[in-house]
Amino acid sequence: MSSPQRPAASTGHDPLAATRHFWNWPDTDAVEARCEALLRLPPHRQSTEDTAGVLAWFESHCPASRRVAAEMGTLVPGGSQHNLAFDHPFPLSIAGGRGPHVTDIDGNRYVDLLCAGGPLLLGNCYEPVADRVAEVLRTVGPATGMLHDYELRLARLVHDFMPGVERLRMLGSGTEAVMAALRVARAFTGKAHVVKIGGAYHGWSDQMMLGLRLPGSGAYEAGGIPPGCYATTQEVRPNDGAELRRRLEANEANGGTAAVIVEPLGPESGTLPARQDFNAEVHELCDSAGALLIFDEVVTGFRMGLGGAQEYLGVRPDLTVLGKCLTGGYLAAGAVGGRQDVMDACAGGIGVSNRHARLGGTLSANPLSCAGGYYSILEMERTSAPAAASAAGDRLAAGLRRAIDRRRLPFVAYNFASIVHLHTSGVLHIDLRRPGWFDEVGPRLEMLREISAALVAAGVLTVGGSRFFLSSAHTPEVVDDAVARIEGILATISPP
Ligand code: PMP
Repeated sequence: MSSPQRPAASTGHDPLAATRHFWNWPDTDAVEARCEALLRLPPHRQSTEDTAGVLAWFESHCPASRRVAAEMGTLVPGGSQHNLAFDHPFPLSIAGGRGPHVTDIDGNRYVDLLCAGGPLLLGNCYEPVADRVAEVLRTVGPATGMLHDYELRLARLVHDFMPGVERLRMLGSGTEAVMAALRVARAFTGKAHVVKIGGAYHGWSDQMMLGLRLPGSGAYEAGGIPPGCYATTQEVRPNDGAELRRRLEANEANGGTAAVIVEPLGPESGTLPARQDFNAEVHELCDSAGALLIFDEVVTGFRMGLGGAQEYLGVRPDLTVLGKCLTGGYLAAGAVGGRQDVMDACAGGIGVSNRHARLGGTLSANPLSCAGGYYSILEMERTSAPAAASAAGDRLAAGLRRAIDRRRLPFVAYNFASIVHLHTSGVLHIDLRRPGWFDEVGPRLEMLREISAALVAAGVLTVGGSRFFLSSAHTPEVVDDAVARIEGILATISPP
């Protein structure tokens, strides 16, 4: 078995050579037009016999998972602790994984297009990294609270690939890292407001629960949060530079804007796709308003190329939030990085000043996470994993488009490299400015749940039935197998 090798202090390589432009930004105007057309039609669903067949499949093939799920319901609220896992009719218990597949405790094997929600760019149970992590576990243990060489190695590697990350601070999750970025931005600028793009997900911290899922949804999902916590958070519509400009100008006289935070592909990893030039426009607007630009690269970091979306776009944000692939899926995946002068606001130790942003975490920057990340990123580089996963994404999206056209369905499939979107129900694109939108939600959400369950019964795990993450382990044969399985489901759907 090959082991990743790199001297601890290496910098002498060309990070861009391995990462530059192996994928194409989708035609976002065309995607938007197709999504609007999808919403003009009533939902195209499976027949009731077909949905009953899916439920019968779960009954006959997944008895052990069903027992675990029932017991979980007595101990865990709602019976599930995983937001991205489908839960209809019940969540599966997974027993093992290898490369592009996972197996449940009843012995059913699935093509894994969930990839743990993004971090598994090298596939399941990638042994060269697992071996190194196991070695750290045996020699150092999971945490010491002191510095370990792997912290340095990982920070150097991230800086090599993302030169804008001049300083890096590891944290426990993407959510924590976003919280940290906002605090640092406010401490550095002394300004009040933070602007996000409506529909984007930046973790579940109090101040980021505004405008979740659908643009304009405001505090709809902010249950349990005192309004004061998000009083200085604002949302603007995706791809709307004019609205952002107005917002920044209005804030000038009212405490100013500390930062604008964006997912560079657009809300929910490109579910609402950003125009490519929107990112540069946001950058310019931030510069003229004296606000910091934060790229949330929790999903896109390393996956879109080792330099992240920022390298592809040629936009250098002031702060970058990382997670997921940063540690190759090993525990405690989160970090904030960026300009040295800005990041100095969160220097560790015991600082006493209101310009100091206090951050921390008992398990932050532990040797296990850092070694997992360090060796994963080296392996991503050695095997050109982002490009390989991206080729798998292109193949999946093209296969889905062919299947959609063959079946004359109004569905929409496109990809940003190894992130593939399949919109069947339209529920993620409902426009809250349209009269009667509320009545649309129920049936379209129900349809998405049905599709998600049908895909599982067909042997494909997805992110909620509408998004797929590919890895370098997804060979053309595996992708073609997935397309055939998904087309089998599309074949059961007809116009209402
Ligand atoms: N930002 C983005 C863009 C994300 O997709 C996520 C999680 N899916 C987060 C932040 C939060 O990361 P975590 O789940 O590690 O808290």
